[in-house]
Amino acid sequence: MIVANWKCNGSKKMIQDWLRQYMDTFISSTGTYVGIAPPYMYVEHFLNLINEYGLDIKLGVQDVDKSSGARTSAISIDMIQDMDCKFTILGHSEKRVIFNESNENISKKLDIAIDKVDAIYCIGESAEENNKNQTKDILENQLSIIKGKIIPSSFSIAYEPVWAIGTGNTPTPEDINDIHKFIKDVVQSSTENNIVPTVLYGGSVNEANAESFFKQNYIDGALIGGASLEGKSFANIVNIFNGKNL
Ligand code: PEP
Repeated sequence: MIVANWKCNGSKKMIQDWLRQYMDTFISSTGTYVGIAPPYMYVEHFLNLINEYGLDIKLGVQDVDKSSGARTSAISIDMIQDMDCKFTILGHSEKRVIFNESNENISKKLDIAIDKVDAIYCIGESAEENNKNQTKDILENQLSIIKGKIIPSSFSIAYEPVWAIGTGNTPTPEDINDIHKFIKDVVQSSTENNIVPTVLYGGSVNEANAESFFKQNYIDGALIGGASLEGKSFANIVNIFNGKNL
């Protein structure tokens, strides 16, 4: 599973250029879940072009609100489904830090979204927490929102150390692999249906380092920010994941 998070980037021209590069670079392969989450404004435009070009890319969003109605600026899960979006990212660290998103709020959103679209729940520790060796405690706390719940197999987790996002720094592939194993164990033991989730890694993944991550047993894919903004580099990462460019 490889998912692009465009954050607050994009324009109609950028989408056109991106798709041209993607189609020139992508080596066809079946089965991999490839998703892109542009800003809400561009979902329909992007989806129309993907359908026109016959590409196997799912459209998704970067967040969803917990209900509809008198909630100025919000987007509801029904709207997302209505626009043919297949997934939503939830709990991204930029939402947690810049927009003060709490575990409690994310938990409400997750409850609404989880049976309707594929939910990708982002978790990760800050640099300070990492330095104090608190990573596992922080992750356990963030994972507590799914404790005791029945979680569908479409649910996945993106482990995104905050200090690795957009910085060019990453944990070693082996360290990420250990953390992913830990996440899978925590989710399996704490959910009602003992689900073992797909766990993506996010944080400065690019064409040069992707292979080292994808070789690890417990890294099931990636959530990609910066390197997803160019169709060529995103397609190359998908190719690497598919074993095409190794
Ligand atoms: C992200 O913000 O989800 C992310 C992984 O960003 P980047 O790839 O730019 O580190």
